Amino acid sequence: MIFQLFRRLARAARQRRGMAIDRAHACAALAALALLAGCSAYRPGGLDIDRSKQAVSQNSRVEFIVLHYTSASNDTSLKILTERNVSSHYLITDHPAPRVYQLVDENRRAWHAGVSAWYNSSNLNSASIGIEIVNPGRRGDGWAPYPPRQIQVLAILLKDIIARHQIKPFNVVGHSDIAPQRKTDPGPLFPWKALAEQGIGRWYDENLARRFLAEFAAQGLPDMVWVQKELRRVGYAAPETGMLDKATRNVLAAFQMHYRPRSYDGNPDAETLAILKALP
Ligand SMILES: [Zn+2]
Repeated sequence: MIFQLFRRLARAARQRRGMAIDRAHACAALAALALLAGCSAYRPGGLDIDRSKQAVSQNSRVEFIVLHYTSASNDTSLKILTERNVSSHYLITDHPAPRVYQLVDENRRAWHAGVSAWYNSSNLNSASIGIEIVNPGRRGDGWAPYPPRQIQVLAILLKDIIARHQIKPFNVVGHSDIAPQRKTDPGPLFPWKALAEQGIGRWYDENLARRFLAEFAAQGLPDMVWVQKELRRVGYAAPETGMLDKATRNVLAAFQMHYRPRSYDGNPDAETLAILKALP
């Protein structure tokens, strides 16, 4: 149905505007109507491309969603993300009624992740959608909270992107998760747990974490080889030094900001390790 409607609309548009029509623009204008059918009317150089068959073996190129704060005002964030050599697919403002800007098409690469790694992937710009959230970030020795309305808007956007691209829960990440040596955004006040309760992103079984905590209290903590291995198991690019070095502390701090944000000093305390062990 959508396919036929689209063909009809495209034909009507061609007739209205004549053959000199800019087909690429017609394609973009009609893309919203085309939905899953894609832009079936686009004919580069007049080529008649047959799009009547579609392969069953395919999926989205988008595997990750990376969340950021901008550490800048609405106007400055918009200016930087549109005019400098950094960008994101979406920008959510902190107006009382937050605005959502789309600055880069989801099929194209935005420049938001930089040097990054998650599981077996690196340089995540290629396979991710980046969402920048207007938030001042660190303020003195505190952090700026995210207004509930802004998070509501983000949750609507995330649910839609996750459904369309079939993003796995553990691949909804913060910039600090994928670049723990350089980044702290979206920061410890970002409501990962509240979002997980809405089915967005990954969380851990809290009963299981309590059981592991009791086990650690009785038996002592595992060593750093185990800690680093577990951090890698859940996606983080942790060193393999077997020592609590600076780089490992940074990874632990990123992990804590996400899963135990009350304290993120990078120390492998019993609660942090119990959560780490419980994380699927
Ligand atoms: Zn960032």
